[in-house]
Amino acid sequence: MIKSKKIKFYGLRDISSMEILKEKLSEEQIFEVEVVASVLPFRTNNYVVDELIDWNNIPNDPIFQLTFMQRGMLDEHQYSEIATLLKAGASKETISIAANKIRAKLNPHPAGQMTANVPIMDNHVVPGIQHKYNETALVFPSAGQTCHAYCTFCFRWAQFVGDHDLKFATDESNRFQKYLMLHTEISDVLFTGGDPMVMSLPKLEAYLLPLLQPEFDHIKNIRIGTKSLSYWPYRFVTDKDAEGILKLFKKIMNAGKHLAIMAHVNHGHELDTEVLKKAVRRLRNVGVKIRTQSPLIRHINDSANVWAEMWRKQVNLGMIPYYMFVERETGAKEYFEIPLSEAFEIYREAFKQVSGLQRTARGPVMSASPGKVVVEGVARVNGEKVFVLNMLQARNPNWVKRPFFAKYDETSTWLTKLTPAFGEKEFFYEDELEEMLQQKSSEHEKGKNI
Ligand SMILES: *Cc1c(COP(=O)(O)O)cnc(C)c1O
Ligand code: SF4
Repeated sequence: MIKSKKIKFYGLRDISSMEILKEKLSEEQIFEVEVVASVLPFRTNNYVVDELIDWNNIPNDPIFQLTFMQRGMLDEHQYSEIATLLKAGASKETISIAANKIRAKLNPHPAGQMTANVPIMDNHVVPGIQHKYNETALVFPSAGQTCHAYCTFCFRWAQFVGDHDLKFATDESNRFQKYLMLHTEISDVLFTGGDPMVMSLPKLEAYLLPLLQPEFDHIKNIRIGTKSLSYWPYRFVTDKDAEGILKLFKKIMNAGKHLAIMAHVNHGHELDTEVLKKAVRRLRNVGVKIRTQSPLIRHINDSANVWAEMWRKQVNLGMIPYYMFVERETGAKEYFEIPLSEAFEIYREAFKQVSGLQRTARGPVMSASPGKVVVEGVARVNGEKVFVLNMLQARNPNWVKRPFFAKYDETSTWLTKLTPAFGEKEFFYEDELEEMLQQKSSEHEKGKNI
């Protein structure tokens, strides 16, 4: 029997009084966590602290790195600026002004998410939706824009620091529903966040049940992107409305939709607890498919063995490995990023040691402006060492599966840092992409003036 548990969050204000920190870290180390948490969003909970983190392996424990801020996440200058203010007992306001300045420098919205992927309908933006690839729309429910804990490397961290300009969510008008109804090319709706599974059952129903109406027949697959299995598996086991959630999922599937949980899992340790296993079993028993994805992140999962073991555990539990992402260029990226050359080697070495059932994980993939670009390999063509790249998804569907080549190098961490191979001036899609982005941005300008 799994004992029920009530969630208890720990945030910035709790850092100095957390018993476990006092026991395991020096005062200086606790202060470091506080300094960084004054800039980047910090939240963890009693499941992560009591059941996931190995406190005998601090600070290297991957789950500790996953939710607790590390000094290296800010550069020396940023760190000392905030540290000085905190030590001098500066006002909340002063600290927040300094923190906001630093945040603005951390590329809060990578790959043009604010305009390039946000659709316009009747000359107005549709709040809370992103539609980049024809078949799949992302929906950001307003009540799901937080998480059971925050990942230190989160690429959507800007949503959590209280800056409303950086927030991205549906509004009361629910115009996103009309958009989904009118766009019959959309077969997949992916609810994302934050974490939609922080929503109460009535809220989840309000988002999910309308899609079962006949006017949404073109929507065949509903996906929920969530880290709840790792951060709060009780959601599906002992929480008050756990049964209701499973019933809701069943109802969706009985209506003929495919329901997929896109589970965010960064490390095999997240899959070891009894309550996680129970949650996975319960979801599978009602027919939910669980696919898994994670970025490849320094200090957390930067080794082939960690990935191979994680994939093995996932398949063993009946989860389907789906994506290995390249960490995006935002937030504390210097601390977490891994060069593409190394990312590819880690993927290959992990791939090599698992069976075909685990080889469903595609990677390493960059969610870049033109599309989802995968590093297929490293090759030598006419004496030139190159990365072989490919798009798995593209802003223009004609770009997919057209291998293209970049000069090999050992340091580039993102597509935009690569140089085309064979002396070419640009990659094949660049002119067209530029045109598409310009058009999108002028549509947005027009929308604003109406
Ligand atoms: C990854 C992603 C999707 C989903 O792509 P699939 O290949 O269908 O999993 C949809 N929209 C955006 C913007 C994405 O980044
Ligand atoms: S679960 Fe996802 S959205 Fe939430 S903090 Fe982690 S990476 Fe960010």
